[in-house]
Amino acid sequence: MKARILLIEDNADNLELARYLLAAAGHEVLLATNGAQGLDVARAEQPDMIVSDLQMPVMDGYALIAALKCDPSCLGIPVIALTAFSMPGDEARVMQAGFDGYLSKPIEPEQFSAQIADLLSSNRRAAESPPAAA
Ligand code: MN
Repeated sequence: MKARILLIEDNADNLELARYLLAAAGHEVLLATNGAQGLDVARAEQPDMIVSDLQMPVMDGYALIAALKCDPSCLGIPVIALTAFSMPGDEARVMQAGFDGYLSKPIEPEQFSAQIADLLSSNRRAAESPPAAA
């Protein structure tokens, strides 16, 4: 399933590897290197999914997800954290912050590509499933 994916990452090596893997899978990739830039691109381009680092200058991933979920034009876009989970409790904190999933760093190419495909299909199903009858 081809998608427009906004990738937000301040580390140049991670940005290039993730960009390469997403493009190799046929996705259109939009890039930003901090949360503030990512927020601007999300509002302007309305991507199908956002994959975002957490630790970034200017605006980190937690501030970004808070801003996205407050913006009616962006709150429906699935947002996936790209994180090393370096501290105990990180995983719970990520999901509580409102992220729709996570990908772990360091990026393992085959695993990353498979997880992106899974996340796209599961989020697509969630978006398309009709509301439950009252
Ligand atoms: Mn970072």
